[in-house]
Amino acid sequence: MNIKKITCHVVAAPVQRPFTSSRGWLYKTRGTCLVEIETSDGIVGWGECYGPSAVAKAFIDTQLAPRVIGRDPFDVEVIWEDLYNRIKDYGPKGMSIAAISGIDIALWDIIGKACNKPVHKLIGGAFRTEVDCYATGLYFTDMERLVDEAVEEAIGYKKAGFKAIKMKIGLGSIKRDYERVKAVREAIGSDIKLMVDANHCLTVPAAIKLGRKLEELDIEWFEEPISPEDIDGYIEVTRALDMAVAGGENEFTRWGFRDAIVRKAMDIVQPDVCAAGGITECKKIASLASTHGVECVPHAWGSVVGLSATIHFLASIPNQPPSLFPMPPMLEFEQEENPFRDHLAKTPIQQVNGVIAVPTGAGLGVEVDRAVIDKYRVA
Ligand code: CA
Repeated sequence: MNIKKITCHVVAAPVQRPFTSSRGWLYKTRGTCLVEIETSDGIVGWGECYGPSAVAKAFIDTQLAPRVIGRDPFDVEVIWEDLYNRIKDYGPKGMSIAAISGIDIALWDIIGKACNKPVHKLIGGAFRTEVDCYATGLYFTDMERLVDEAVEEAIGYKKAGFKAIKMKIGLGSIKRDYERVKAVREAIGSDIKLMVDANHCLTVPAAIKLGRKLEELDIEWFEEPISPEDIDGYIEVTRALDMAVAGGENEFTRWGFRDAIVRKAMDIVQPDVCAAGGITECKKIASLASTHGVECVPHAWGSVVGLSATIHFLASIPNQPPSLFPMPPMLEFEQEENPFRDHLAKTPIQQVNGVIAVPTGAGLGVEVDRAVIDKYRVA
């Protein structure tokens, strides 16, 4: 069996309620680059690239695909090293690695389908058959009702069964952020885990000052308090706060994560399988993290393909530390409108009481509905 064809599908769909985070990007559409790889045996595998989808497609079409065609998909790590070494001189981070990620995920899907085994069985097995998930949401939508809309949305997640929620912060004022998080905490009560995500909008002193206030509200982790390039700043924030500090959704490969992990710049690293180098590389990042006593809790923000790849990866991460009553890493289950998360698979991934079953079908366990791709294809 060898790799016969690689096709990138660039898709985008408008959203009814545009939303933003502290970065100020207004999300009017949801889109992605889906990678379809076909083998000489007729097996089709799917992958996904995080970030600007036309850029991922350009990397794959012009740089990566020609090196992959004709090879054995079981040589997934050999292929990874070849692609990385071909591209690292001009792209050791960023979209070049997102493009490799999409190919890597599709190859794992193919290997699973060829063996009739779910991906998690191929990467060490499942430490858990279901994963706890948290709702990511509480973006900024109605600037006149920032507190009320957050409270209403959080109550909705609690009613839907979620046991953990992550909210956006970064309103340009420590007082405004504190009051909004406090209102959400009071609305959902003390039994629901609550995380905050600043999308790297704060300075080091502002992050520490806000973090100390938010600790009063029993926050599970403080995500991306400051700019991702500032490892020394992360160390300052992480040492100053009692609560866990998380980051790394915009970092790539084991070399990119190395300094943050070795220096314990954050308590939790959050590689994204569709960005940081695929399943192959994220397994290595997770091992590196565990070696240094850092938790690995992946970031996820894509279609059902990326979400499923994340669940298989998550299932293969051991509890840290192992215990009678462990606290397993949670799945990020982002909840803003996204037809590629909810409708692209013939059977969507759904949570019940805050829990998602690890897929057991062959490969990623996702049956892609091509009609959804055709409907939202970007010309
Ligand atoms: Ca985030």
